[in-house]
Amino acid sequence: MFLKSLDIFGFKSFADKTRVEFAAGITALLGPNGCGKSNVVDAVKWVLGEQASKAMRAEKMEDVIFNGTETRKPLNVAEVTLTIANDEGLLPLDVPEIEIKRRLYRSGESEYFINAAPVRLKEVRELFWDTGVGKAAYSVMEQGKIDQILSSKPDERRYLFEEAAGITKFKVKGAEAERKLAKTEENMRQVEGILGEVK
Ligand code: ATP
Repeated sequence: MFLKSLDIFGFKSFADKTRVEFAAGITALLGPNGCGKSNVVDAVKWVLGEQASKAMRAEKMEDVIFNGTETRKPLNVAEVTLTIANDEGLLPLDVPEIEIKRRLYRSGESEYFINAAPVRLKEVRELFWDTGVGKAAYSVMEQGKIDQILSSKPDERRYLFEEAAGITKFKVKGAEAERKLAKTEENMRQVEGILGEVK
């Protein structure tokens, strides 16, 4: 899977529309301390559905919206779009290019899109199941992440192996099926109760 480009607008220090293009090979971001290099990585995690403001190095999620400088007014919306090449069909959508967009308004309202169609966060997550991309997966290795993995509990570390082995999808679906089964059993008990009263 190949990241083609990242478009950022109103996210953290990016008040202007900014495009980062990822060419073949290695892409390096260079710049002085505090110029926004890590904000680019935050933008990738954010568009993939990160929900923890802490992971964005922010107190609350609205803090990722450009909050102004001495010379510029704050913005009311943050928008990040990630374009991914899918020629090899690694992602389960039959198109050669996939565009994921996330938008957050200061009111707290949030939107996700896959190829311009509005979707729920769940659909963005499902798109990346078992690819190593996405929340808590291993494609973003930030400062301290290796230490964190090495010192994590076996149960937590197991998640990474399950993702690499391609079984996350089945575990999530299994848990969903169990929840539905429990709900159905509860409904059955209620129906039996009512039937018992009617008899
Ligand atoms: P370092 O090399 O020190 O890690 P960096 O280049 O990775 O720095 P970042 O941490 O990505 O820099 O960016 C920090 C900058 O982003 C700070 O100047 C901070 O003021 C700015 N910033 C963060 N959130 C916002 C926001 N919501 N609005 C405006 N600027 C923001």
